[in-house]
Order: sequence, then C-alpha cells, then structure tokens
Amino acid sequence: MRPITLYFLAGVKIMGASKRRRTAKHTTFVADLVAESPNGLLALDPDGIITAANPSAARMFGRSLDSLVGQHQGALFLQDFTHDLTALAEAPPGMPSAKTTVVEVGALRADGSGFQAEIAGAVRKTKGQGGLILSVRSLEHRQAWDTEIRRATSLLSATLESTADGLAVFDINGTLTGMNQRFLDMWQVPRELMSPGREPEAIALAVEQSADPQAFLTRIIEIQKHPEAITDDIVLLMDGRTIERHSRPQRVDGQVVGRVWSFRDITPRRKTEEAAEAAMAKLAAHAHELRSRAYQDSLTGLANRAVFNETLNQLFSQGEQENVDVLLLDLDNFKDVNDLFGHQSGDELLRKIAVQLSSTLPDAEVVARLGGDEFVVLLTGCADVDAVAIRVLASMIPLSIQGNAINPQASIGIASGRSETADAQELLREADIAMYAAKRAGRNRYRRFQPTMMEQLIQQTRQETRLRKAVAGQEFTIAYQPIVSPLTGTVTQCEALARWVDDGLHIPPLDFIPLAESTGVIEQLGMDLMRQSLQGLSVWLAADAGVSLAVNVSGAQLHNQDFADNVLRLVKDCSVNPAQLVLEVTESVFFEATCNPIQQLIRLRESGVRVVLDDFGTGYSSLGRLQDLPVDALKIDRSFVSMIITGDEHLPILTSMIHMAHNLGLSVTAEGVETQAQLRYLNALGCEALQGYLFSRPQPALELDPAIAEAARTLTALS
Ligand code: C2E
Ligand code: CA
Ligand code: CA
Repeated sequence: MRPITLYFLAGVKIMGASKRRRTAKHTTFVADLVAESPNGLLALDPDGIITAANPSAARMFGRSLDSLVGQHQGALFLQDFTHDLTALAEAPPGMPSAKTTVVEVGALRADGSGFQAEIAGAVRKTKGQGGLILSVRSLEHRQAWDTEIRRATSLLSATLESTADGLAVFDINGTLTGMNQRFLDMWQVPRELMSPGREPEAIALAVEQSADPQAFLTRIIEIQKHPEAITDDIVLLMDGRTIERHSRPQRVDGQVVGRVWSFRDITPRRKTEEAAEAAMAKLAAHAHELRSRAYQDSLTGLANRAVFNETLNQLFSQGEQENVDVLLLDLDNFKDVNDLFGHQSGDELLRKIAVQLSSTLPDAEVVARLGGDEFVVLLTGCADVDAVAIRVLASMIPLSIQGNAINPQASIGIASGRSETADAQELLREADIAMYAAKRAGRNRYRRFQPTMMEQLIQQTRQETRLRKAVAGQEFTIAYQPIVSPLTGTVTQCEALARWVDDGLHIPPLDFIPLAESTGVIEQLGMDLMRQSLQGLSVWLAADAGVSLAVNVSGAQLHNQDFADNVLRLVKDCSVNPAQLVLEVTESVFFEATCNPIQQLIRLRESGVRVVLDDFGTGYSSLGRLQDLPVDALKIDRSFVSMIITGDEHLPILTSMIHMAHNLGLSVTAEGVETQAQLRYLNALGCEALQGYLFSRPQPALELDPAIAEAARTLTALS
C-alpha cells in the first residue's frame, strides 16, 4: 500500500468483526478512489508541509510521490493562497468537506514550467492533526477554451456595439445582464443606472419617455409573463421618436434564462413611410376623384355614359351582343318641372328617379344617367324585356318634391342586340329611335325598336325640315268654316283652319300641328296663322260687329308670357275688335301645373277676347271645374255629335253636358254636324252654334262668301 493511502486511512475507527469486514472492503474502495482520482490530492500540515499526495498530484507537478511528500507547498504554487483558506480553520471539526473554497493559482512543475491550477481546499481537523487537504486541478485545458470565449465575446460585443439597435439583456429574474452603448444613448440612461439592482430606476426612466407610459409598462409586464414569446411592437416616445421594440428569449441549452430586448429608432424610416403614405393617399384620392368624375354621374351617383358605353362595348367584343338589351328612358315633360318648380326640384326628381330605377332593377348590368332626363339600363340575359319596361313604368309613382306633388312619367325605347348589330353605338341609336316612337305614340309607354321606325324617323326628320322651311316661307293657307246660329238663322262665326300643301300633297293639320308643337315652331306658326286669318276676314268682320273669327291656339303658345300682349297687338294691327276674336283652346291647357296659360287667357278676356273650350268631352273633362275656367263657351266634340244617328235616341251624357254648360252661363257650339237628325237633336237641346259639313266645309277665303250664304240657307231650310 502506498503511503498516501495509508495516510488517508489513518482516521478509520476499529469496529466489530462483521462491521470490520465491511469496513475493510470500504477502506480498499476509498484507497482506490484516492489513488485513481483525476484530481491531484495533497495533505498539508499546519506549516504547509505536504504530508501525503496521490499519483495524480505527482503527475501534475512532474515529480515522484516520494519527492512531493515533505515539500513545502510554496515550492509548488506561485502565490500564497493559504490566507484564503485560513477562514477554513475556524470551521468546526469533523466537517472538513463542508467548508471548502476554490482558488485559482499559478503552479510550478519540477522542470520549472508553470500552469494554472484550481485548488479546492478543506480544513482537516482530525484528532491531533490539523492542516489542509487540497484538491488540485490543472486549468491547462481551460486556457484554450477561455481564449475562444474571449475572442467570441469580443467579437460579439464589437458586433453589439456596432449595431444600430439598442440592446439590453435581462435574466429571468429581471436582473440586467448586458447592454450596449446604443441602448444607453437611445434611452438617455446614465451607465451607472444600468447595473444590477438599479433596473427598476432604468426601466422607470424608459417608461417616462414613452408617449403612453401606462401602455408601455403593461406591455412589458405582459411580455414577462410569457418567457417563450417573441414580440415586436412600436413605441412612440414623447420627443416624437418612434422606436421599434423587439424581444426574444435568451436560451442556454434550450432553457430560457432571460430576455434580449432590442430597440431600433425607426423615426426617419417612419417619417419617410408617413410621407410616402400621405403621398399615396393623396394620389389615391386624386385617382378616386378622377375615376368617379369620369365614371359617376355627379348628380345622381349612378354610372355615367362612359361606364355604359364601356360595358356595352366590352359585351360586344366578347361576342355577347345577342344577350344584351338596352332600355333608354326619357322623362316626359321634364322641362315643365324645371320651368314650373325650379331646377332644384328638377334635380331632386332626377335623383329620386335614379333611386327608383336602381331599386326596381337590382339585377341590371348597368343603370346609368346619360345626361338631362335621359337614363339607360343595360340588361344581360333578360328573359322578358317587356316585363322589365312595364315594371319601370309602374315604378313611376307620384312623388313629393319640395312640397309639390309631381307625377313623373317616362317614355322607354328598347333595343335588343342581334347577331347583325354592328356595334354598341348602333344599339343605343336604335333604343333612342324606339324611345322617340314611344314619345310620338303619346308618351308614358315603351316601344321596342322596329326597323320600320328608322324609315319613320327619316320621314319625320325630312318633314320637320320641310315644316321649318314652310313656316319660314309662310307656305300655309287658311280655310274658314262657317258656324251658324240657330237663334238668328245666320253665320255668326268662322273657324280658321290651317292648310299646308307640301310638294303637292295636302298634309292634314292633325299631322303638322303636333310636329310644329314638338319642334317648337308652333309659336311662330300660330301667330302667323292668326294674323293671316284676321287679315283674311277683316272685311267680313268689319262689316258686322256681331260676327267673329275663331282661331285655334295650342297649349304651347300659351306658355309664352307675352302671348296675350302679342294677340292684342295683332288684333289692333289688323283693326279688328278684340270682341270679334274667339280663341279655341283644349282643356289640357288648364291641367298644366303652371298658371301662365290661365293668366294669359284672363288677360285676353279682360280685353274682350272670348275663349272657347274646344273638343269638350274628350280627355279629362271635368264638368265640376268648368265654372272656375276663364272660358265663354264650350265646343262639344264631334264624337258626341256623331252619336246622334236617328235623332230619337236618348243621349244622357250629351244632354247633361249641354245643360250643365248652360247652367254655368256658357254658350254651346256643336261641331261635326253632318245630318239633319243631328241638327234637330242639337236644336232641341238649345245649342247656340252649330258647325259641320251639313252647313259648309272649310273654305278658302275667296270662296267664303258664297259658303256663308249657303250655310245660312241650309240652316233655315232644315230647321
Ligand atoms: P278642330 O279644332 O276640332 O277643328 C275641327 C276639325 O273638324 C277640322 O279638321 C274640320 O275640318 C273638321 N270638321 C268640321 N266639320 C266637320 C264635319 O262635319 N265632319 C268631320 N268629319 N269633320 C269636320 P281639320 O281642319 O283637319 O283640323 C283638325 C284639327 O287641327 C283641328 O281640330 C285643330 O285641332 C287643329 N288645327 C287646325 N288648324 C289649326 C290652327 O291654326 N292652329 C291650331 N293650333 N290647331 C289647328
Ligand atoms: Ca277648333
Ligand atoms: Ca274641335
């Protein structure tokens, strides 16, 4: 047994036989442990003399075991470390291993070379023997490792210091374990605050700088509750800076040991971004503005013509034309709404129509306003376009617009794409032609485009041109039809009826008068005809103050504010007594919302001009309203007179009309009297005047005198 082993066994107690056997076994084990320990073991006496050593110690110091024992420890170690161990001397006996301490010292081998060693010492306080037990470990292996770490650490810290990010590392308990200069600069934290123990002060300083300290703090606390979390957020500082805050767990061997906080000042980036965002928003708004200006009807918010055209063109280019229907809608008499109630009401009506249209046709491809009072609906794959048109017309219900009840009506033209339809524009043109056909047919209805409409339109356009020319060239003549008075048995009145021979063809007034009305030439034509009539009959009128001239007046003429003045001037110019002029107007002029026609008629009547309600009984005749109208007489429509066939029939409507008129103090003229039976029947009812082919057809001025005489003779003979 080697001396060290013996030495280390010295303190073992003598025990009983079986226990002894066990103890002997144990002693062998401990001796092996000491002999084979990789650590050098040295026993020192209180003077520092080595009293025992193990083979590892001998190897470490480059000596034999024998030369080691008896050496002073000072020969092995460069520094005296014993004072570091003196405190151990005070340790209670029997507990040598409880009080150990570790020191790093320089050590010397026998050949004079040195090495770094780590010594762990324990005080030995066995009976009678003091001293130290040293466990020596060479740190040579660690030196290479340390250099590595130092290099890595310096590289790391160089990196950390050069990064633009402020970094701070806290361990799991919130103790600061590292930071870089950038962090201190960024948060303006004095370095002394960034030392362990002063973290709360440092954090408080950072929190204070936040624009929202409460949120800042809450967030940090929240993050701390989730050690595994990786977080990213933006912190706004009071001084206007924007800080990007990133944090991630710090791990050692997969275990979270702390958290690395990295802060980046993104104020410049943020500012650039904000400027870019603002520019983008401005651009987007501008683009939206442009887009909506280009594609939206600003009054109604509907799509505009461009959208309609584009969509229709696109459908055509996709070969979808046979799937397409176009409804062109134009409000009837929209101009009146503007004229009577003002443009604001007109605009409101258009807006309401737009809403009605879009809600009536939610499936329409496009509902657009083309301009004015013209709307267009684009339908694709519609099974029943007529039904759609009917639905749209039915949706035109009375509306309250700025306190006025307005009953909008519309005319609709429908055109459906066919394989031979050339392009989108052609389809729209066809819808337009169909819409005009609907207008001509009496408005408030729809018409589907028919190729014959083209012909009609061309005809009409040609006729319009000729009409304008005829008006300008005063190509119209007057035919006068005598009106007899059963009371006097004479002709008391002549009605002037316009005549137009166009290119050798007699055009009936029922064709050209409406055309003159729709083209607006009626004003001039009407006055021209009146002047011609007055001039043509001036002699006849001058000869007998009891006779008069009846002139037909269109409702459109009465819209002119100067109508009454113009008529009175004309009468004067022609040296005719206003009392010898009778104006024939139809009831429709009184149903118009505007009161100008009534005012004009009142003014004329005040000057002696008489007014006759023509075609009475047709249209919306209201006997009840008669007493309020500025009229002197009724002219019962031919259709009622034609009901008298034998003269024995009972015609209650005709009878009551005449009675009612008389009760209201109005005189009654019956027109279209063609038979003796009719003459007798009307005579019996007390009609004041009779007009019809029975007495005379309308005659040119030159043939009027004999016609007048003939009419009177007929009346006398048949009455
Ligand atoms: P109206 O004012 O009802 O004129 C009477 C129409 O009845 C005239 O037709 C006349 O020729 C026709 N007539 C007269 N007696 C008889 C009869 O016994 N039997 C039949 N079947 N017809 C008879 P005309 O001349 O074709 O005029 C048609 C309409 O044209 C007129 O209806 C009137 O509304 C309008 N018109 C004619 N001249 C003028 C005018 O100068 N200005 C305006 N605004 N309208 C006019
Ligand atoms: Ca008439
Ligand atoms: Ca009539």
